[in-house]
Amino acid sequence: MDFKLSEEQLLIKEAARDFAKTELLPGVIERDEKQEFPTEQVKKMGELGFLGMMTSAEYGGSGMDTVSYVMVMEELSKVDASASVIVSVNNSLVCWGLETYGTEEQKQKYLKRLASGEIIGAFCLSEPEAGSDATSQKTTAIDKGDHYIVNGTKNWITNGNSADVYLVIAQTDPEKKHKGINALILEKGMPGFEIGPKEQKLGIRGSDTHSLIFNDVKVPKENRIGEDGFGFKFAMKTLAGGRIGIAAQALGIASGAYELAKEYSKVRKAFGTEICNHQAIAFKLADMHTQIEAARHMVLKAAWDKDNGNDYDLSGAMAKLYASQVAMDTTIEAVQIHGGNGYVKEYHVERLMRDAKITQIYEGTSEIQKIVISRSVLKD
Ligand SMILES: Cc1cc2nc3c(=O)[nH]c(=O)nc-3n(C[C@H](O)[C@H](O)[C@H](O)COP(=O)(O)OP(=O)(O)OC[C@H]3O[C@@H](n4cnc5c(N)ncnc54)[C@H](O)[C@@H]3O)c2cc1C
Repeated sequence: MDFKLSEEQLLIKEAARDFAKTELLPGVIERDEKQEFPTEQVKKMGELGFLGMMTSAEYGGSGMDTVSYVMVMEELSKVDASASVIVSVNNSLVCWGLETYGTEEQKQKYLKRLASGEIIGAFCLSEPEAGSDATSQKTTAIDKGDHYIVNGTKNWITNGNSADVYLVIAQTDPEKKHKGINALILEKGMPGFEIGPKEQKLGIRGSDTHSLIFNDVKVPKENRIGEDGFGFKFAMKTLAGGRIGIAAQALGIASGAYELAKEYSKVRKAFGTEICNHQAIAFKLADMHTQIEAARHMVLKAAWDKDNGNDYDLSGAMAKLYASQVAMDTTIEAVQIHGGNGYVKEYHVERLMRDAKITQIYEGTSEIQKIVISRSVLKD
């Protein structure tokens, strides 16, 4: 067993930490308040190679491993989970999906620009009536020979208005159920493709969440990813890796809140001493530190599994389930340690607490992770 990180991995972690401090921290409260997309910061993350971290250099990416990626996700999420979800969707769902399953033509046309951060992408699976139950796709992609005609609505799409490229899951042949589903590449501006209003959210308010409406959108057949009927498998495979990114996001939110609470406890005085000298507070920090370290091991293990060609469905689901619970528990305690100051915006922990909740919902709720985990452990 080797817990040692390489020099390159440590350098990229350091770069992400610096970027988060100098570029994300200023303005993070304001962006949250105004629900403002971090346009400038996303551009800079593209220049740093954070938007195509695992994509090979040949297609405009940084060619790094998943371990480096989760460490960057952790560092960014400590400060700004709205920025990190943009990184997560573009890397794990869009770029990884296209590089792994796309045609050479699709990679040349779309992946290069996505991985270099010139444009960003969105992953469109959820619908008003198909969230956890993703097989109930109502969006249709009718086969018309050399193209598909797409109709329907997608809900809650991250990067909904900021993206240029959308990977859309749609039903072509309902009789074949999930085996009749396809994944198609749509572009913003295709006739009949409308973007709905922005969602007003509890957390990750700087990210851009919209519904999408498709009215007879004509999509060329060369924009289908994989064989006919591969769309559902594509979505599941892609989400299995995506969960590792969201687990890292949850870990980052937890460790960001913990670091703030620890520092605060060393300066805030009550009853003649710094509050960290009260055992009730010190024990909260001990619990937080222990749980965060356990979550970090799980996240790194899942990333390592992916890098080493091992199955990562189980380790990724466990990492997301656990890290997202740690994110909730830790941020609630961080607010508690800050007392009244925890409840106001300038101390950051109330935002982290609101941001934490989404990690238990998207890319498979905690209940869905338990279904994945229990199925896996029961099959032996
Ligand atoms: C901010 C935000 C961003 C998002 N970004 C994207 C995106 O970019 N792309 C995308 O495709 N989707 C996105 N989503 C959608 C997200 O993935 C779904 O909301 C999520 O999968 C849950 O689906 P649902 O909302 O329909 O809840 P439902 O499926 O209706 O679930 C409601 C509740 O029932 C539980 N439940 C459902 N089925 C079971 C079961 N079999 N056993 C036990 N419990 C069950 C769930 O766990 C949950 O607690 C986003 C959502 C949000 C809020």
